[in-house]
Amino acid sequence: MPGGLAFVSGADRVPGSQEEEPIDRDRIDSFNHSLARWYEQNRRRLPWRETREPYPVWLSEVMLQQTRVETVLAYYPRFLSRFPTLEALAQAPLSEALKLWEGMGYYARCRNLHKAARLVMERHSGRFPWSFEEVVALPGIGRSTAGAILSFVHEQRLPVLDGNVQRVLIRLHRIEQDPGRAAVRARLWRLAQEMVDRSHSPGVFNQSMMELGALICTARAPRCSACPVSGHCQAWACGDPSGLPLVKRAKPLPHYDIGVGIIWHEGHVLIQLRPEKGLLGGLWEFPGGKREPGEEIPDTVRREIREELGIEIEVTAPAVVVRHAYSHFKVTLHAFHCHWLSGTPSPRAAQGWCWVKPERTEEYAFPQANRLILEHIRQEGRSGAG
Ligand code: SF4
Repeated sequence: MPGGLAFVSGADRVPGSQEEEPIDRDRIDSFNHSLARWYEQNRRRLPWRETREPYPVWLSEVMLQQTRVETVLAYYPRFLSRFPTLEALAQAPLSEALKLWEGMGYYARCRNLHKAARLVMERHSGRFPWSFEEVVALPGIGRSTAGAILSFVHEQRLPVLDGNVQRVLIRLHRIEQDPGRAAVRARLWRLAQEMVDRSHSPGVFNQSMMELGALICTARAPRCSACPVSGHCQAWACGDPSGLPLVKRAKPLPHYDIGVGIIWHEGHVLIQLRPEKGLLGGLWEFPGGKREPGEEIPDTVRREIREELGIEIEVTAPAVVVRHAYSHFKVTLHAFHCHWLSGTPSPRAAQGWCWVKPERTEEYAFPQANRLILEHIRQEGRSGAG
C-alpha cells in the first residue's frame, strides 16, 4: 500500500469484501487531533453554530441539505425571525412557511419540516426528542441529519455521512467503488462511526469533517497542499484525489414543453394551488400543461385550461418563454396571455384557485419559474387588456 493512510492496518481489503476492516486507533487519534486543530483555526462563523438549541440546528440542517451555505445565510434568519420557535412554526399555516422558503427549491423539505414540527407538538409535547429512533421517525430526517442534530446539540456519538463527509472518507481510504452500493455505504458508515467514537467531541468532529469537505476536500479541485490530514490520505498518496469518488455518467434529463396561460379577467389573473403532495406541492402557479406531440402551444394552453379548470379562454398573445431545470427533468414554459371567456373554474387536480391582481401575487408562494413569469408581467405593465 503506497504512502500514508488511513486507519486500516494490515493487508489491503479485497474489493467488495464484507470482512471488517482492522482499525488502527492510534492513527484515528492522530487524524482527529490534526482535524480538530485545523477546525478551531479555520471554521466559518455561521449563525447556526452559535446555538445548541435543537430547533434552529434542525432548521439549518434541513436548509443545508440541498442548498449552498451562502443562500441559507439569507433564508435562515428570515425564517427564524418569523418562526422563532418550533411551536410558532407548528401553529402557522403551511402556506406561510412555503412563502419564506420560496426560491430555495426542494419544497418537500419545507413541507416535511412543518409536518414534523406539528408531530413534535403532538407526540413530544413540543420538546424536540433526544433519542435517535424518535428523531429519524420524523418526516424529512434521515440517519445523517439525525446524527448531525443529536451530535451538535447533545454530543451523542452518532456519525454524519452527508455528501461532504462521504467524499472525504472515500478519498482518505481511496475507495474505488460506487458509493451508491449498499456495501460501500455500510463501510462508510462504519468508518465514520469508528472515527466519531474516538473523538473528543462528537459534535465538533462531525462539524469539522463537514467543514473539511466544504472548504478543502472539495468535489472538483481538492486543496490537498492545504489539507491538515493529507498525511493520512490514501488518495493524496496515490496522486489521484480528484478522480474520487467515482461518479456514474448522468443520463441526459428529459425535456418537456409546457403551455402556460396567464388568464386575465377585469385586471386580475387566475392562479391555482398545486396539490400538497408531489413536486412543488402547496405552491401557487399559472395553469397549464405539457404539449402533446405535433400540437401548437396555443392549442396546448386552450386544451389544458379546458381539461384542468373547465373554462373557455381566448389565447391572445405570447408573453414570455422561461427555461428551468429540476433534478430529474427540464422544462420550457411558453407563457401566453389569455382572456377568460366563460365558465367557473373547477380544478381537477389543484387544491384551489383565485383571481388576484398582479401586484398582490407577492403574498403567495410561487415556484421559481412562475416567479419569472410574474416578473415579466410586472415589467411589461400589462393591465389585462389582452
Ligand atoms: S489530502 Fe486531499 S484528497 Fe485527501 S482528504 Fe485532504 S484534501 Fe481530501
